[in-house]
Amino acid sequence: MIFHNPAGAPELACEQCGCRWFDRINDTCYECGTKVSDESIAEFNLAVERFRARETARADAPGAPVDPAAR
Ligand SMILES: [Zn+2]
Repeated sequence: MIFHNPAGAPELACEQCGCRWFDRINDTCYECGTKVSDESIAEFNLAVERFRARETARADAPGAPVDPAAR
């Protein structure tokens, strides 16, 4: 299950309880211990890739975070 936070960034969530905290070592949910499927992880990684590409594409848009060092 994949959620998107208010910033539009994808967040992986447990299929069983909706919890977003995972044991990254074992790929299991902290709340209920459900194993995160490889499909979910692959889907999440894709969503992250798409999100980053989108963020890069609109880096010049108004409202985008500006790196002070770039000025
Ligand atoms: Zn869970």
